[in-house]
Amino acid sequence: MTEDITSLYCYVHPNRETSLRCNRCERPICSSCAVRTPTGYRCNECIRERQKAFNTAEWYDYLIGFGTSAGLSLITSIGLLLISRFLGFFMIFISFAIAGAAGVYISNLVMAALRKRRSSQLFWLAAAGVVAGALPIIFILLFSRNLFPIIWQGLYLFIATPTVYARLSGVRFSR
Ligand SMILES: [Zn+2]
Ligand SMILES: [Zn+2]
Repeated sequence: MTEDITSLYCYVHPNRETSLRCNRCERPICSSCAVRTPTGYRCNECIRERQKAFNTAEWYDYLIGFGTSAGLSLITSIGLLLISRFLGFFMIFISFAIAGAAGVYISNLVMAALRKRRSSQLFWLAAAGVVAGALPIIFILLFSRNLFPIIWQGLYLFIATPTVYARLSGVRFSR
């Protein structure tokens, strides 16, 4: 039996004739299987493989990411509390700088701990770790009815949490 080699059939749907090929694996794909990407049409299998390469985090990275950021955030939070005892309202002058710097060093140390492994859930989890680390201090302040220093804790979280997320997720653009 001779086959017409000029007509292609989708490798997922062998009964559909097509003229498209996946530009990565070169296999013929029909229009419903083709996914448009910036570099051309790709099949679903190749798209999935690419996403796998994008998510390189192992299960323990979620513990490392969350733990590192929560631990550092707790230290920062305690530091803020101690400094605010001395400075009182003058904290307003340095709290922004401390919060910004904390966002930078927490994200840097989390990145170092993860050794470039990444996933978008991991970035969210590390940002959540910043909040989780400061919560014990906020609760202690609430229970002791020491409400004023909570302002600095809130300000710290407001600045450091999005900073950590933005810096971690920015890693994938600069590789
Ligand atoms: Zn393909
Ligand atoms: Zn198909």
